[in-house]
Amino acid sequence: MSAEVSLSKNELIDLIESTESASCDAACLRGLLAEVEEEERIEKSARLGIPPEARPEEMTIEEYLAEKRGQSHVEHGTDLECRICHDKFDHLISGTCEVCFRGWMLSTKRS
Ligand SMILES: [Zn+2]
Repeated sequence: MSAEVSLSKNELIDLIESTESASCDAACLRGLLAEVEEEERIEKSARLGIPPEARPEEMTIEEYLAEKRGQSHVEHGTDLECRICHDKFDHLISGTCEVCFRGWMLSTKRS
């Protein structure tokens, strides 16, 4: 079931409580609440900067690349040679140019 509910969490809790007081089965609503809480946890993790390993599906490719780039050694200079395509650049990320770094990270991500 999708967690796309238009209720706020408190409204959902109220709904569960009123459903329970009407002695209906609230199990499915509780399931929804668990999903909402899981989404809150993921959002909180993102805000706190918890590593993407904990939330791999939430990362876009650009976010993944930005993060890997942030973790990589960036070299600035003149005539730096990319160790993959061997062209010259004014900066390298982990010894590779932007294009090769991107291709390299994406191939790492896929495997
Ligand atoms: Zn390159």
